[in-house]
Amino acid sequence: MSKTTTITVAKGDGIGPEIMDAVLKVLYAAKADIKVEEITVGKSVYEKGIPSGIDEDAWKIIRKNKVLLKAPITTPQGGGYKSLNVTIRKTLGLFASVRPARSYFPYVQTKHPNTDIVIVRENEEGLYAGIEYQQTPDAIHALKLMTVRGSARIIRYAFEYAQKYGREKVTAMTKDNILKLTDGMFHKLFDEIGKEYPDVKQEHYIIDIGTARLAASPERFDVVVTPNLYGDVLSDVSAQITGSVGMAPSANIGLEYAMFEAVHGSAPDIAGKGIANPSGLLNAAVMLLLHIGQPKTAELIQNAWLKTIEDGIHTVDIYNPHYTTKQVNTQEFADAVIERLGEKPEKLKPVNYSEKYDKIKFTLIERPVPKRELVGVDVIIYHPEREPGKIGDEMKKYNTDKLKLSVIANRGLVVYPNFSAEAFCTDEWTCRYKSEEPITYSDIMELLKNINDNAPYEIVRTENLYNFDGQRVYSKSQGE
Ligand code: NAD
Repeated sequence: MSKTTTITVAKGDGIGPEIMDAVLKVLYAAKADIKVEEITVGKSVYEKGIPSGIDEDAWKIIRKNKVLLKAPITTPQGGGYKSLNVTIRKTLGLFASVRPARSYFPYVQTKHPNTDIVIVRENEEGLYAGIEYQQTPDAIHALKLMTVRGSARIIRYAFEYAQKYGREKVTAMTKDNILKLTDGMFHKLFDEIGKEYPDVKQEHYIIDIGTARLAASPERFDVVVTPNLYGDVLSDVSAQITGSVGMAPSANIGLEYAMFEAVHGSAPDIAGKGIANPSGLLNAAVMLLLHIGQPKTAELIQNAWLKTIEDGIHTVDIYNPHYTTKQVNTQEFADAVIERLGEKPEKLKPVNYSEKYDKIKFTLIERPVPKRELVGVDVIIYHPEREPGKIGDEMKKYNTDKLKLSVIANRGLVVYPNFSAEAFCTDEWTCRYKSEEPITYSDIMELLKNINDNAPYEIVRTENLYNFDGQRVYSKSQGE
């Protein structure tokens, strides 16, 4: 027997309230053992001058109940407003984005009738950490920050998900042929953690060919795990090829908190008309029920929903001249699902969620701390002229007893001592000083002082170079 779970509900903006009312009606009719506590987030909160779109009282309720079902919200155009989704994700540590994409052919048109994949995407790190700098007029940086623990956590989550949900295979996708340290670490961890799940098939693809394969033959894939940006693109590709973006759910899961929502937005163009499709949010509510340990209610609703789709009871967005038997509005659609509670689809594959389909729990395994040795520094200087030879000859003058200039790189390409006349150069130059032996930061300070006091160039940034357990953990420039 499940115990009553209080969930937080945000009705959102645009079509949000209409679809949320329809979804709650289905949940109550299916006797989901839930109590609802409502919060207001989004447009009206933004308009009160709160740039995050969420106030302190709402946070308190979210934190108390730990599980949030959220309808889409409208992010006001223009500067100053923050994406509420990103704020919630980061504040609550919702590290895993889980997006199932399934085809409902022939009721929903698609070229890929057998698609049934789940994209598990790291949600907080990578380029979405949103750390950017500009220090010279021409060069702008975005930092792709990936952590060992964050990567291990999402990879483990994907394997646990596959195991719990009876999925056969987990595919990792990275760009580790180029990004040997960040994506390389993700791939290595995938291989290492994968050994703990011998019953789950495992493979790795480079993200570009992997995405192409997934778009062409999605039936080859099952669970796919990726760092943040790749997963963002892949989850849209996979939702699109099923033809059912409007029906796709999304779960954002953390160790303590979770948020469930539809993939689509607040659809202001049809708001208030009562015609929106509540399926995306309903499918998200099904994921929520699994998460709070009510798999049989989840199964009851999902099968009734599949039967509704199969019976041709469709909202206008999925109207299909061959298979729609009755075009309905939002509330009528919810009623049709309720009428079918207890029924199973005959043509579409029904779901069977056994009692084991509850929240995915796992412990984070601490990893050994490596022996770190400081062995050099990249000193990045600003110089707008394309004069690598001159810069190199100048910067060599500041070598210290320990740190010697080894190369200068521009946009990741070595331009000193060897220079390709065709190389396109920007206005910042990475001067790499290395030591034969481990050094301390005082040695770097001595070098920097020397450069700062005497060189005709401004230092805009420095990066320490380390070896971990004797292995280089900084990238080599092309040609180094
Ligand atoms: P959208 O998903 O709201 O709408 C795109 C198109 O799909 C529209 O034509 C819309 O009518 C249709 N559509 C979407 N959901 C539908 C449904 N359930 N039933 C029938 N038709 C549906 O995307 P948009 O227009 O780019 O964004 C509108 C607003 O939503 C923006 O303010 C955006 O910031 C916000 N948004 C919020 C979320 C979220 O809260 N999770 C996600 C995406 C966009």
